[in-house]
Amino acid sequence: MTDLLIRDVRPMGGAATSIAIRDGRIAAIGPGDAGPGTPVLEGGDRIALPGLIEAHTHLDKSLLGMPWYRNAVGPRLIDRIDNERAERHAMPIDARRQSARQAALSVGHGTTHIRSHIDIDTEIGVRGIEGLMATREALADVVGIDIVAFPQSGLLVRPGTLALMEQAMRLGAETVGGLDPCAVDRDPKGHLDAVFGLAERFGRGVDIHLHETGEMGAFSMELIIERTRALGMAGRVMISHAFCLGMPDSAIVDPLITALADSGVAVMTTGTASRPVPPLKRLAEAGVVVCAGSDGIRDTWGPYGNADMLERATLLGMRNNLRRDDELPIALAACTTGGALALGLGDYGLAPGCHADMVLVAAETLGEAIAQHPGLRTTIRRGRVVAADGNPLFAVA
Ligand SMILES: [Zn+2]
Repeated sequence: MTDLLIRDVRPMGGAATSIAIRDGRIAAIGPGDAGPGTPVLEGGDRIALPGLIEAHTHLDKSLLGMPWYRNAVGPRLIDRIDNERAERHAMPIDARRQSARQAALSVGHGTTHIRSHIDIDTEIGVRGIEGLMATREALADVVGIDIVAFPQSGLLVRPGTLALMEQAMRLGAETVGGLDPCAVDRDPKGHLDAVFGLAERFGRGVDIHLHETGEMGAFSMELIIERTRALGMAGRVMISHAFCLGMPDSAIVDPLITALADSGVAVMTTGTASRPVPPLKRLAEAGVVVCAGSDGIRDTWGPYGNADMLERATLLGMRNNLRRDDELPIALAACTTGGALALGLGDYGLAPGCHADMVLVAAETLGEAIAQHPGLRTTIRRGRVVAADGNPLFAVA
C-alpha cells in the first residue's frame, strides 16, 4: 500500500519516473500507477534532489522577523563576539522563537536536516539550548535538528563555561563544539583536551569552528587530527570553516588534506567570499567528506543569508570556479550527501529504503538547478509534503 505517489519527477535530473512512498520511506522508483485512492503529487517534470542538509548554522541568534539590525561592529572576530554578548542584553533574542523562524525558512527552501551551533557562555548559560530543544520538539515532523553546544565566547578564558557545556550535553546537545584553540582560548592543548574530553565522556562527536588562517590554523588542525586518531573518532569530527586550507602554500595544505581524508575528519565550508576557503574539488578528489552551511543568517555578526542551501551550492560553485556541468555536482554534494555523511544521517538519498526526504526543483538539468537555484520548491520530509511553492505548510510564531 503506497502512502504517496510522486508522479512525473526526474531524480537527480535523470529520466522522468515515479517515486512511491510508504511509511515515510521510498518504497520504489520507477514507472507505475497509483492504486485506487492513493494520494498523488504531480511532479510536473521537476528534478527531485535528496533533502538539502544545512550542516552549520546558528538558529539561536538569527534576527529574522525582528527590526533591521544596524551593524556598526568592529572588524575583528573578537569585536563580533563581544558585540553580540552586549546586544543580547539590549534586545530580546528568544532562541525558541528565532530558531523556529529560521527552521521554517530552511524547510521552505528544501532543507530536511539542520545542524545548529548554540551559544553557551557564563551570561546566557544554557538558555539557548533549552530554546532549541523546544523548537526541535515542536518541529520534529518537518525537519531534523542536531544541536552543538558551542562556547562562542571561549571555553577556558571564561571559567565556568566547561561546566555549562557539560550541562548542555546532559540536556540533550548531540555534539561538543569548540572554537579557535589558539586565537580565542590561547591554549590549544587545554582547549582541545577539554573539548575531546567531554566528547569522550559523553560518547559524542566534535565540531570545531576553526577561523585561524595560515600556519596557526594548520597547527590547530594537526592537533585536532591527532586527537581524532588517538580516540578512534573517525567520522565523528568536523572542522568548520577551515580557512587555513585556502592558503596558497601547497607544501602545508596538501599533507593536511591527506591527513583529513585518512583520519576521517570532515570539513564544513560556507564558500564565503570574504576569506580564503577550502578547495572543494581537491578535497573531494582526496576523499575528504565536505559539507556546507549558511552559518549565521541575519544576525549581529552580519546582515546576509537566507537559509537556502541550493543557493549555497551556487555560491560554492562560484567561489571554487566550478563551471562545467560535470563539476557542478561537487557543490551540490556538499549540500546533500556530504552533509548526510558528516552528520552521520542514515538511510539518506534517493533510493528505495531511504527516508523519503527530498526537494522538487523546476530546472531542465542538474547543472541548471545547481547554478541557478530556482525557487518555488516543494519539500517532502518522511513522505509528507511540508512546503509547497517555497512556503512552509506549518505555522511558527
Ligand atoms: Zn558558525
